[in-house]
Amino acid sequence: MQHSCKYRKENLIMCQSCNKFVIMGIVRKTKSVDLILDLFNKNVNAFSVVHLVKLTEKQMNKTTVYRILDRLEEEGIIHSFNDTNGLRWYAKCKGCTPKSHLDTHPHFQCSSCGTIECLDVSVIIPAIKDHKVYTAEIILVGECNTCLTR
Ligand SMILES: [Zn+2]
Ligand SMILES: [Zn+2]
Ligand SMILES: [Zn+2]
Repeated sequence: MQHSCKYRKENLIMCQSCNKFVIMGIVRKTKSVDLILDLFNKNVNAFSVVHLVKLTEKQMNKTTVYRILDRLEEEGIIHSFNDTNGLRWYAKCKGCTPKSHLDTHPHFQCSSCGTIECLDVSVIIPAIKDHKVYTAEIILVGECNTCLTR
């Protein structure tokens, strides 16, 4: 009887540690979100997915990074686009909300150092007859200020 009691207690502990693990999971998730947000806050330039995964590889796995990026994009905090090689990049949004998430500004990729920056200029997307435009990605390729003045 005593033994089965002890056994049950152990189960309960296991259950508790399970709960703890779940709570820890949430905390860790928030920490991961903070970590990624921090990267975007500290850097004005865009990050490629490969770079983001590398920067956070000690703290979280690839899947978590992808999940957080998806979530942040849905919330209108960051936007994504593809570069000329088809690689996905993410950059901070300016004044976007989950409902109004329009980032039609062009991006500039430096062919020397590879950095991509958001350009604070507006590009007028022409109205195409009998077509509806959902997204537009404009990538200007050239040399950035840092490389030009090096
Ligand atoms: Zn946006
Ligand atoms: Zn450059
Ligand atoms: Zn941008």
